[in-house]
Amino acid sequence: MDTVYRSTRGSAVRVSASQAILKGLSEDGGLFVPERIPKLDKELKELARMDYRQVAYEVMKLYLTDFTEGELKDCIDRAYDDKFDRPEIAPVVEADGVWYLELFHGATIAFKDMALSILPHLMTTSARKNNVKNEIVILTATSGDTGKAALAGFADVEGTKIIVFYPKDGVSPIQEKQMVTQKGNNTLVVGIHGNFDDAQTGVKKLFADRELAEEMERKGYQFSSANSINIGRLVPQICYYVYSYATLLREGKIAEGEGMNVVVPTGNFGNILAAFYAKNMGLPIEKLICASNDNKVLYDFFRTGTYDRNREFVLTSSPSMDILISSNLERLIYRIAGEDAGKNQELMAALNSRGTYEITEQMREGLKDFYGNYATEQETAEEINRLYRTCGYVIDTHTAVASAVYRKYQEETGDRTKTVIASTASPFKFTRSVMKAIDEKYDAMGDFALVDELSALAKVEVPKAIEEIRTAPTVHDRQCDVDGMKDVVKDFLRM
Ligand SMILES: *Cc1c(COP(=O)(O)O)cnc(C)c1O
Repeated sequence: MDTVYRSTRGSAVRVSASQAILKGLSEDGGLFVPERIPKLDKELKELARMDYRQVAYEVMKLYLTDFTEGELKDCIDRAYDDKFDRPEIAPVVEADGVWYLELFHGATIAFKDMALSILPHLMTTSARKNNVKNEIVILTATSGDTGKAALAGFADVEGTKIIVFYPKDGVSPIQEKQMVTQKGNNTLVVGIHGNFDDAQTGVKKLFADRELAEEMERKGYQFSSANSINIGRLVPQICYYVYSYATLLREGKIAEGEGMNVVVPTGNFGNILAAFYAKNMGLPIEKLICASNDNKVLYDFFRTGTYDRNREFVLTSSPSMDILISSNLERLIYRIAGEDAGKNQELMAALNSRGTYEITEQMREGLKDFYGNYATEQETAEEINRLYRTCGYVIDTHTAVASAVYRKYQEETGDRTKTVIASTASPFKFTRSVMKAIDEKYDAMGDFALVDELSALAKVEVPKAIEEIRTAPTVHDRQCDVDGMKDVVKDFLRM
C-alpha cells in the first residue's frame, strides 16, 4: 500500500514520499506526516536475524513507497558503510542494568549521522524521480550537530549545495571546529549573532520568501531542508529503534514481544518522535521517556498541557538540546488533535504570536505513553561521574541528561521494564564537559590534550572525526546578523 504524506496544517495537501523529501516543509508551513503509520510486516524474530541495513530496508520500504527496491537499497548501502566505525552501525551496550544504543559511530560522531548519511541519497534519488533539473540548495540551522553531519553528508554531492547557519557563541569548540574546517566547494558555513532559535526562525523565513524562491528558480536553484523536520530525516531514525529491539532479542536479553522503554535526550523532538512512530508500527515500546536539560519546555508541557516558550534561553553543556521551540512536536500535536489540521494550525499560530498554547484534556489523553523530566547541569555532570565510577563507561553530556532522567523515572515509578537509552553523541564531541564531570582538575588542560586523556581513561580509541580536525585549517569564517542571512545566501549563489 502506498504511503501518502499530508501536511499538519492543510488537509488538501497530498504528496508522495519523494516529493515530501524534496520539499522538506509543506508550502502552508506545515510538516509532512504519513497519512497512516504503516505496520511492520516482518516478525520481530525475523528482524532479529537481520543486519542494520536489512532492518533499515524493512522499515523504510514501508514509508518510502514510491522508491523502488533497487533505489532504496542503493541509498541504504551508500549510507551505512565503512563511514561507520562499527559493523553493527548502531551497537547496543549494556552498562549498569540499562542498554545504551550508541548512535554516534558515523562520520561526525553524533546521532545526526544516522539520518544525514542517507538523506543526500534519498534527496538526489527523489530529484531524479521527479525530473527536477534545478540544483538543490540545502539550507540548515544547527544547534551544533546537525550542521556538521549535514555538511559531511552533502559535501561534493553532485547537484547539491549546502548552507549551514549556527549560533556563533552557542556551540562547543569542537563542534565549531568541525564545521568551519569542512571541505567541499558546494559548502558554506556561517556563524550568526543569535541563538539557535534565531537561526531556525531565520531559516524558516528564507524558506517562506516567495520572491527569493522565484529568483532562485530563474537561476536554476531550489531550496530543500536537511533539518529534522524533513521526513527523510525522520524515517531513517525509526530504523534504529527497531534494530535495538532486534539486537536485544537476538542476544536473548529480551523475550519476543516483551515491552521495552526508550529514553531520548530531546531537543527538536525528532529522535523521540521516531521512537513514537516505531511504537505505532507495532514495536513493543512501553514508555517514551523524554529527557530535557534546563531548557525544560517539554517537561513543563507534559506536566501541564501548556507549551510555553516565553522563558529564558539557557546555554547548557548539552547544546544540541538548547531549544525552546521543538519543531517536530507539531507532528505529535497534529496526531493527538485527531489529525485535525485546522486545530493544529490554530495552536501553531498561537505559538507563533504569543509563544504559548494549551492543549485540551482529550489531547492530553494521547500523551499517556510519554513521560517527561529534566536534568540540571549538576545532575548531568553527576551522572557522567557516577556511571564512569561504577562501570568505567563514559557517556557524553546529552546522553547523561537522558541517563539522569531515567534514574528519576525509576525512583518515581519503580518500573523495571527493560530500557534502552538513546546515546546521541560520542563523549569525544563534548570532551571538556565530560572530563570536568569526571574530575574538575581536567579543566586546566587544552582541548586536544583532554581528548587523549579521555581516550586513555575510557579505553576508547580517539575517533577519526576528532583526529581529522586536530590539524585541519579553518576554511569558513563568515559571520552575520539574523537580518543578514538572506544576503549571505544570495551572495553564495551569486544572485
Ligand atoms: C540533535 C541532538 C539531540 C536532540 O535530538 P532531537 O531529535 O532534536 O530531539 C540530542 N543529542 C544530540 C547529541 C544531538 O545532536
